[in-house]
Amino acid sequence: MPQKSPLIAIYPGSFDPLTLGHLNIIQRSLKLFDSLVVAIVVNPNKQSLFSLEERRAMIEEALGKDRKRVRVDSFSGLLVDYVRAQNARAIIRGLRAVSDFEYEFQMAHMNRSLYPDVETIFMMAGEDHFYVSSRLVREVASLGGDVSPMTPPNVHRALLARFPRKEKP
Ligand code: ADP
Repeated sequence: MPQKSPLIAIYPGSFDPLTLGHLNIIQRSLKLFDSLVVAIVVNPNKQSLFSLEERRAMIEEALGKDRKRVRVDSFSGLLVDYVRAQNARAIIRGLRAVSDFEYEFQMAHMNRSLYPDVETIFMMAGEDHFYVSSRLVREVASLGGDVSPMTPPNVHRALLARFPRKEKP
């Protein structure tokens, strides 16, 4: 019998930084796919808090035992070109509130018209992660707020190093 090729999915995003919301999507995707590529989008026009290398290292450390089936990579250019080059079958996206929907819907349509063989799979955010976004985590951490409930411990440490908490008077 011919060997079946492994089912690979791509999970693209900025991951600036990785949150527990992202990690939850990664863990659930691994129940559906043999392996997952967490693909950090390189966008030279967008200023990021953490460098590409820092983000990659943080994701790898936070993966723990799942690291065996997850590869962390980065790409620039069209997502569908990257998906094709990786021989992947699906793009994974997380859906939080209604506000995510419109943009995601457009992107999924666009990607399918560019590359009809790829499916975008949406996962509803885990119930504890609906309101977690990297942007909010960055903002709150920069103002000295505690983001430990929303971030893996290593990401929390990196944020504390970047934005030391001031002692309350
Ligand atoms: P953000 O939108 O938080 O800046 P990314 O661009 O890194 O994050 O998002 C990558 C993907 O992960 C997107 O599909 C986004 O909707 C999803 N995602 C981000 N945060 C969460 C979360 N808390 N729960 C579920 N999915 C999420």
